[in-house]
Amino acid sequence: MKRHLLSVDDLTREDIERILGRAESFAEVSGREIKKVPTLRGRTVINLFYEASTRTSSSFELAAKRLSADLVSVKAAGSAVDKGESLKDTVQTLSAYDPAAIVFRSPHAGAAGLVARWTGVSVINAGDGKREHPTQALLDLYTLRRQVERLEGLNVWIVGDVLHSRVARSNILAFGRMGCHVTVCGPPTLIPRGVESLGCEVRTTLDDLGEADVVYALRMQRERMIGDFVPSLREYAARYQIDGRRLSPNQLVMHPGPVNRGVELSAEVIDSPQALITHQVESGVVVRMAVLYELLAGGPPAATMQSSSPLSAEASEPQPA
Ligand code: ASP
Repeated sequence: MKRHLLSVDDLTREDIERILGRAESFAEVSGREIKKVPTLRGRTVINLFYEASTRTSSSFELAAKRLSADLVSVKAAGSAVDKGESLKDTVQTLSAYDPAAIVFRSPHAGAAGLVARWTGVSVINAGDGKREHPTQALLDLYTLRRQVERLEGLNVWIVGDVLHSRVARSNILAFGRMGCHVTVCGPPTLIPRGVESLGCEVRTTLDDLGEADVVYALRMQRERMIGDFVPSLREYAARYQIDGRRLSPNQLVMHPGPVNRGVELSAEVIDSPQALITHQVESGVVVRMAVLYELLAGGPPAATMQSSSPLSAEASEPQPA
């Protein structure tokens, strides 16, 4: 695997399989009372977040801590960015601490790639504007794989604000790589031109939603909407909301969060057992542990597993430096 994780395109199907398998083993660790292994002891992980986040930042923090890394979390608000420091200078300053990885979120598409050029350490894209969110896609695959027998051949409908969604972009690539059949659906104004080239079909109504095995709803990204993309949220909900009337009992529902309750999903659907939203959040920790492991402690899987098992029971015991 490459040194950075900037896009799902950095991953082969084998890489994805390996990460999902590794996440399964970390799920076992998460079931223990002491949820910690020594894999990254003595290494530093920096979370650098220039945009709001609850799930991604907290799960990366937990993942780094459960791997025993030293963690520094920097949010743009309240940092020297407020004093006018440029991103490049911030990255170079933080790189002086000799971290093993920088987990980076930005409102700007392509910013994670820039950071990767400015620093010698592994960079993990935790969401860059409208572009990509590869670890979200991995945790979605992981969540789904625990529910269904095979990903191959599954019909996944991604519904809503595809235009502003980095999750949609990463998931079209990731589901496609695992052999799913992906359809995106939303108002024509919220479907990016040429999206089919990523490997999906496009629909602009929910008439054929019954084809879907999995309905992946996207948040209406009001913070990224410049101009009028839909007449009103009410009208959007009337045509595109996933509700009990449109959903059949065997379909699974996913959403990356945060959900606009009553807009893209009805309250009854969010709270139904068909919704995997809480499972997705739960998967975030083990999948991000697996990504950190893969980038920082990886190498050929056989060799790494031999030298020291990441899951060893002595994990939580103090060991000589
Ligand atoms: N949490 C996801 C993201 O950061 C989805 C969203 O914000 O709608 O992209």
